[in-house]
Amino acid sequence: MQASWADDPTLAWIGLGANLGERDAALRQAVRAIAALPGTQMRRVSSLYRSAPVDAGGPDYLNAVLEIATRLDAHALLAALQDIEHSAGRERPYRNAPRTLDLDILLYGEQCITTLALTVPHPRMHERAFVLQPLAELAPERVPPEALRAVAGQAIERCQDGGWLAG
Ligand code: AMP
Repeated sequence: MQASWADDPTLAWIGLGANLGERDAALRQAVRAIAALPGTQMRRVSSLYRSAPVDAGGPDYLNAVLEIATRLDAHALLAALQDIEHSAGRERPYRNAPRTLDLDILLYGEQCITTLALTVPHPRMHERAFVLQPLAELAPERVPPEALRAVAGQAIERCQDGGWLAG
């Protein structure tokens, strides 16, 4: 990977989801892979959640949010996350298809980014309880209470606290 380096680390929050195969193992492996990226330090991980697929069929998702400090710029981080998805066997046969691993950049510092490849803050994060609830555990100041209230009716279950990675 051709890394683009920033001078100082940026705090970023990554959404993780899996609804095919060994979902728990896929998320653990993804966290390990993200923590091993160049110039990147894992800081905290949210509780693990279970949620029903949105606009799609298939098994329930397992979801979590990871907070990292990284010197990769946002596009280099996206490319690295896509490599990790690919290594997990991710295929994209159609929109919202079930997936072995889904990694999204939710927030990258305070930056607003709109390019062909990348939109940050993630354009659909405020529609999704399975993003907002775990994100609110780690960065409550980045999740307005009214946004959480708006998704309160969505089916989502907290299944393990933030120690799930170690368990
Ligand atoms: P998905 O199928 O939901 O994983 O979407 C992947 C596509 O979304 C890729 O083509 C990315 O370039 C694009 N994308 C745009 N913004 C983001 C973001 N914040 N995080 C991850 N992927 C993004």
